[in-house]
Amino acid sequence: MTKLIKYLLALTLLNSAFAYSADKINGTVLITGANRGLGFALSQHFIADGYQVIGTARKPEKAHELKALGAKVVQLDVTDDTSIEQMALTLKDTPIDIVVNNAGYIAHLDRGFESFKNTSRHDFLLTYNVNTVGPFMVTRALLPNLILSTSKVKKVVNISSHGGIVNRPKVNGIYSYDPTKTALNKITIDMSKDLQQFNIAVVALAPGHNKTDMGGENAQLEPEFSMGKAKEVIKGLSMQDTGTFVGYSGFSIKW
Ligand code: NDP
Repeated sequence: MTKLIKYLLALTLLNSAFAYSADKINGTVLITGANRGLGFALSQHFIADGYQVIGTARKPEKAHELKALGAKVVQLDVTDDTSIEQMALTLKDTPIDIVVNNAGYIAHLDRGFESFKNTSRHDFLLTYNVNTVGPFMVTRALLPNLILSTSKVKKVVNISSHGGIVNRPKVNGIYSYDPTKTALNKITIDMSKDLQQFNIAVVALAPGHNKTDMGGENAQLEPEFSMGKAKEVIKGLSMQDTGTFVGYSGFSIKW
């Protein structure tokens, strides 16, 4: 066989391999804060289900495990507008079917949760910046990508918390954290109205109390379990669900 024939044969095989893997992709999901915790577990589940995952990390150079999963890793600090713009530029013209605003922050993990006494202005502002402003800015920056998606229903999932429920019987007030999720829930409702015209369903999803750096080792749920359920819930969302608050296994939650 001549070199040219061998080359053409290799090229044909390579093309069909690409075509095969492209056929296999069920959709593209962008997950913020995917390098650890719930974001990582959700990335694992979507990749195992044949989705292309774009996982964001503040320090991509350290996101070895996320890269090893096969995710495309993009740098993102949700409090930094330049970082958000750069991410949008990197992903320009890439259709995205699902955006999961997962990155989150809670103050004082090292000293126990914040109390009435020790919550500072800095705690309030930083937590609000990450948990509430971040998801809004990221979603707005990725709107062109969602519009490019040919999915019947495109989805924005804001990872919220039972802590954001206004009338929740007081467990222990996490003063700077809980209101960021209440506000995120309100933003979810407002965005659901604005984005309906593009067939984008916007929901808030409470992941339950999970064993992560944030949730602590005494949490009831394993991220692998809850995020497996959450993946199925996200896949099943329709436009009828837009503007709602759901739990990780699909139960409806009152704001
Ligand atoms: P972790 O603390 O384990 O992980 C947080 C993730 O968010 C990390 O990837 C972290 O990146 C990223 N992150 C933090 N700040 C920023 C920022 N400024 N820009 C971009 N990324 C950032 O948290 P969980 O996995 O437990 O939580 C995930 C989500 O679920 C959060 O929104 C949280 O509020 C919510 N949640 C969690 C619960 C639980 O029990 N675990 C309960 C209810 C809600 P880095 O590694 O660089 O710090």
